[in-house]
Amino acid sequence: MRKILIAGNWKMHKSIPETLELLSLLAGKVGAASPAEVVVAPPFTALSAAGKLLSGTSILLAAQNMSQNPEGAFTGEISAAMLMDAGCQWVILGHSERRSLYDETNGVICQKIKVALENGLKVIFCLGETASQRAGGKTQDVVRGQMELGLRNLDVGLLASLVIAYEPVWAIGTGKNATPHQAQEVHRFIRSELEKKYGSEFAESTRIIYGGSVTSENFQNLSLEPDIDGALVGGASLDADSFYDIITSVT
Ligand code: PEP
Repeated sequence: MRKILIAGNWKMHKSIPETLELLSLLAGKVGAASPAEVVVAPPFTALSAAGKLLSGTSILLAAQNMSQNPEGAFTGEISAAMLMDAGCQWVILGHSERRSLYDETNGVICQKIKVALENGLKVIFCLGETASQRAGGKTQDVVRGQMELGLRNLDVGLLASLVIAYEPVWAIGTGKNATPHQAQEVHRFIRSELEKKYGSEFAESTRIIYGGSVTSENFQNLSLEPDIDGALVGGASLDADSFYDIITSVT
């Protein structure tokens, strides 16, 4: 039985006081034990304060990115150990904005995934096709390629803490979410690829979450699909009520 995971990616939003305000409201709503696993990813500057506020709650903390290097002369970068020091249990890697705006390649994403998992961080690994790739019938090829290269040479033992987020690029921040049928089709495909590579036990236990203009209204139907195990939420995670409505829409 896969536990539903609802993760909020705040992107470059919220000051430290705004972060604490939102998280206090959210923690009050979610309470000590949530049936869904709830993860929030504030900006780097607010992680440490967020980590302190969330300690003792059931809400877990994620970073939105991470260096593939452990330490050293890498100006502006943040390591896995630093994220754990700030209170993170999770990190989001391979987001389409990192791929398209900062030229993150599958190879770099793979290195980051390896370093994160080796250091004890859990990983939300994002992948998905663009509108033109979908229109050209390339969705499966793109997703397969991102999976193959992003997880290349990683030992299956390391992948127990991996969650895959299927995020069609055309649905991110656009208000155009994938239909339950479209999302389920790709989630099923991802699971079948996991099965081919790592076996059925691994494929059945790995969570595959959907991201792209999720709201409580559309997520109710998306979550009914058998291979959709949660959501990665951007815009709607910036407000305690709308994020909490998504959490409760499935529980
Ligand atoms: C995201 O940032 O991963 C995302 C899915 O954003 P939104 O929910 O705003 O489309």
